[in-house]
Amino acid sequence: MSTSEHVLDLRDVKRHYHQGARTLAVLDGADLAIRPGEMVALVAPSGAGKSTLLHVAGLLERPDAGEVFVGGRACGRLNDDERTAIRRNGIGFVYQFHHLLPEFTALENIMMPQLVRGLSQAEASERARQLLDYLKIGHRGEHRPPELSGGEQQRVAIARAVANAPVLLLADEPTGNLDPQTAGHVFDALDALVRRSGLSALIATHNYDLAARMDRKVTIADGKVTAA
Ligand code: ADP
Repeated sequence: MSTSEHVLDLRDVKRHYHQGARTLAVLDGADLAIRPGEMVALVAPSGAGKSTLLHVAGLLERPDAGEVFVGGRACGRLNDDERTAIRRNGIGFVYQFHHLLPEFTALENIMMPQLVRGLSQAEASERARQLLDYLKIGHRGEHRPPELSGGEQQRVAIARAVANAPVLLLADEPTGNLDPQTAGHVFDALDALVRRSGLSALIATHNYDLAARMDRKVTIADGKVTAA
């Protein structure tokens, strides 16, 4: 498969951190290619480099070497504005903690990235309502995040991440802060949404049951991405 057919393609990516006199090679020639519609679990111990990999893949950090292709486009030489545009329109992020804006309703939180992108209030609101309905929390749209349960907050965060119909979803322990039963339900909703929309996803998780439900599992060992 050529690069252009991959939604995400990391090629020989290196990311080194300096810790005092020591250099830590967190990513040291990492390769990872994700096909359209593929859901990939990233399973590795704490400190292995999962967040670093997600940040580099999501154009939040630049690698020290190697190249990141998003939708077939090499992102290394792009300037910050161009990288922001790709990130805003093409990539959705979900974190362990929801990072919703507490003073806005669930609906408004999901509308926000769409308004930033230039959609009208009516279009953004319609799409936000559809997503809330799809994630089975249509009745919670007018509530603010502090009034929602942990599982509901994560559903809103997922809806916000896909509000602009990205091609790639990156998630860092999206159910890591939830009890096992709620985690299962939130993952069901995420899984259904990803499968239905055909977007690709790279999801870091410590939950082996959830990882087993994805199309394949990868890990990070000695700075390289390998099958898990
Ligand atoms: P994980 O998400 O798998 O827990 P991280 O990607 O957060 O791993 O971190 C990998 C390693 O890189 C850890 O040892 C961490 O301490 C180190 N690290 C991460 N970010 C920085 C940074 N900005 N400066 C120095 N070291 C860092």
